[in-house]
Amino acid sequence: MTQIRPAIEDLLERNKQYAAAHQPIPNLMTRMKNNPKEYGPHVLVVSCLDSRANPMEFLKLSVRECLIIRNVGGRFSPIAEQVAALDTLFHISRLILVHHTNCGASHVTKQQALESIREKRPEFTDFKAVEEKMPMFEDNQKALVEDLEKVKNCGFLRKDLIEQTVGLWLDVETGLLERIYPNGSTFKM
Ligand SMILES: [Zn+2]
Repeated sequence: MTQIRPAIEDLLERNKQYAAAHQPIPNLMTRMKNNPKEYGPHVLVVSCLDSRANPMEFLKLSVRECLIIRNVGGRFSPIAEQVAALDTLFHISRLILVHHTNCGASHVTKQQALESIREKRPEFTDFKAVEEKMPMFEDNQKALVEDLEKVKNCGFLRKDLIEQTVGLWLDVETGLLERIYPNGSTFKM
């Protein structure tokens, strides 16, 4: 079997180097004066895990300025419950969904991903939930419009948070964002 890189031993060694210079960060409640609803971050950004789609960079955010969730494609369905959980603690005022051009998720179709599971685990049958959260999409803004629609129809998020949800489309070539509305219309930022 080929060696898995980076090896665990290497990672633990790197961690020792990190820890040698590490400064502890005060805990959540101390930083937020025991009141995360008042003093916590109120904007949650959801973006793709692609290295070109890092909100810290393309929105020039400072550390802990916003809450950030990154997943494959920056999709809403896999993290809807997490948004509700974070909202309980921080009272989120705005949800920003960011999808981007040339996304790796566009290289595999949902059908291919589901077929791959069927092949590797033929005994598995419960495909409904998996399909719902499968993040694949084509290289266009349709999936973002679809996600905005899913937020709108979400039965458990606060209604005023749903109203404050914004969709952004990131062009990884230019680094520029474009606002996408639930009806599919666009606005260059
Ligand atoms: Zn991506």
